[in-house]
Amino acid sequence: MSGINFIKSFDFEYGKPAQLSPLVRRVVADNPGPFTYTGTGVYIVGTDEVCVIDPGPTSPAHMAAIDAALEGCTVSHVLVTHHHIDHSPLAAPLAKKHGCKVYGYGLQSPSPQDGKTRFEAGDDLSFKPDIQLADGDLIKGRDWTIEALHTPGHTSNHMCYALNEENLLFSGDHIMGWSTTVISPPDGDMADYLRSLERVLERNFDIIWPTHGPAIRDVQTFVQSYIDHRHTREAQILDSLSRGRSQIMDIVPELYAYIDKRLYPAAAHSVLAHLIHLVETGRARCDDAAGLHSNYFPV
Ligand SMILES: [Zn+2]
Repeated sequence: MSGINFIKSFDFEYGKPAQLSPLVRRVVADNPGPFTYTGTGVYIVGTDEVCVIDPGPTSPAHMAAIDAALEGCTVSHVLVTHHHIDHSPLAAPLAKKHGCKVYGYGLQSPSPQDGKTRFEAGDDLSFKPDIQLADGDLIKGRDWTIEALHTPGHTSNHMCYALNEENLLFSGDHIMGWSTTVISPPDGDMADYLRSLERVLERNFDIIWPTHGPAIRDVQTFVQSYIDHRHTREAQILDSLSRGRSQIMDIVPELYAYIDKRLYPAAAHSVLAHLIHLVETGRARCDDAAGLHSNYFPV
């Protein structure tokens, strides 16, 4: 249905550090859910002087697992991809414990919630990096170099981190093997998202390690299918408009006939993200400010 060959098989054990490559280890937190798949994968980069990427939640069992994995290491940096509660809450306490700083893109306005439906794992409103990174910034340890790639789309402050020594990318929630990414306006932006996918494609990474689920090894094919999937959705939405559907609530059941109806509100936000992009690029028009209940028309 999506045209994406999702990668769902995932070999791991909660709380046990796994050596993924000469420079990378991962500890998976026991916080599975509809947005986290099997849980948050925390990456530890380096051999003795290390950085930790997205330390994850602050549950006691997870904190104990991270402490055990870091025994004998000096933590020089804590990096955060974005401010969702499955990624950033442990960042500040961990950095404090190790006397280092938290690095991330910076602040953003929180996404409005309608109080009923969760489109995301949720915002960590306390998140505030000590050091604000910009696109292209390099962060160096004794045996590793990480480049920050600003990849807005899922959130406006989303950062991916490239490990130069191993030509790999820690993709956070920007690209996941097991699922597509939630793009929920206004903070989520489809035009930004598509540009951020193209940026990853241009870099030709050997492997992508997302925060949730297994690695993506056939990187170029997978990312291209991720992009193609969004273009297919756009075409489907334009087709719905041309057949007289003008409301998102009428378009969703046509496009998402195969999903659980309880996911329709999340799907509606995805369609809204596409429609905003279509209106901005002059391929659709709207009778008002583009919102969930506006009327949309073909151009
Ligand atoms: Zn997220």
